[in-house]
Amino acid sequence: MLSGVRVRFAPSPTGSLHIGGARTALFNYLFARANGGKFILRLEDTDFERHIEGAAQGIIESLRWLGLDWDEGPDKGGPAGPYRQSERLALYRREAERLVASGAAYFCYCTPEELAAEREEARKAGRVPRYSGRCRELTPAERAAKEAQGRKPAVRLRVPPDGQTVVEDLIRGTVVFENATLDDFIIMKSNGVPTYNFACVVDDVTMGVTHVIRAEEHLSNTPKQILVYRALGYPLPAFAHVPMILAPDRSKLSKRHGATGVEEFRSQGYLPEALFNYLALLGWSPGDEREILSREEIIREFSLAAVSKHAAIYDVQKLTWL
Ligand code: GLU
Repeated sequence: MLSGVRVRFAPSPTGSLHIGGARTALFNYLFARANGGKFILRLEDTDFERHIEGAAQGIIESLRWLGLDWDEGPDKGGPAGPYRQSERLALYRREAERLVASGAAYFCYCTPEELAAEREEARKAGRVPRYSGRCRELTPAERAAKEAQGRKPAVRLRVPPDGQTVVEDLIRGTVVFENATLDDFIIMKSNGVPTYNFACVVDDVTMGVTHVIRAEEHLSNTPKQILVYRALGYPLPAFAHVPMILAPDRSKLSKRHGATGVEEFRSQGYLPEALFNYLALLGWSPGDEREILSREEIIREFSLAAVSKHAAIYDVQKLTWL
């Protein structure tokens, strides 16, 4: 048993909770419970354009139905959370200002049109489209001139042009990324809203997250996040990227493979215990042939070391007899 474990599930409320997200939430929950740690729910709700009314509430209800209770939130003494990024914007702005002041980040005044033209030029020349870095060394006078045109700057992180950033992953092992592929990425948009990679790190640090357990699709974001941790001067958490869930024919999971949303199972009369059991076995195994386990057995036996490196196969037929 590890001590001081703190994990989080951080959905973006852009739709309902599907089985991929539910499995990520479940693995975090199990890891916390198996180690006597804390499980945090954080709504990553700063993408105002993709925001869907009622989605956050739907996710919360699905998690409650599955019995994945979280432990804390911002309202001390009140109901436990969840945390919402939209209520923490001042914190992200302060941290971004700190990076600009230290020189680890800089203001970028390029317009979307200028950036598109730059990418187009690179494509025509047969180069990989990347940010040219033309705002990297602006003088105060050049900045003032851009401001005078009414331009609002975004903030970019200064990424080392060479070298590598290495992700040590508890499931995937060592994964190496070339810094040259990462670009000076945006951490704060020109409207003062943080990007995912920045807000996620600031939150994981301030919430004391010890293990970041999330879907494999985020593995390519992790080197960027590591660079943000370093720039801010914070220690890294442990990372664990959980393999994908595929359909029985190994294609991408979609509606045609049967119910894939937690609410669908709920409305079709499935028991939450059955879905809990089924989701736990999507990538984790107790190490023997058992397929029906109680909630308590799963919590007692769960370990990240027993999570497979390979994609899990989703076969809704199996759920029917659980
Ligand atoms: N909001 C991200 C998502 O829904 C969270 C990723 C993460 O856990 O860092 O995919």
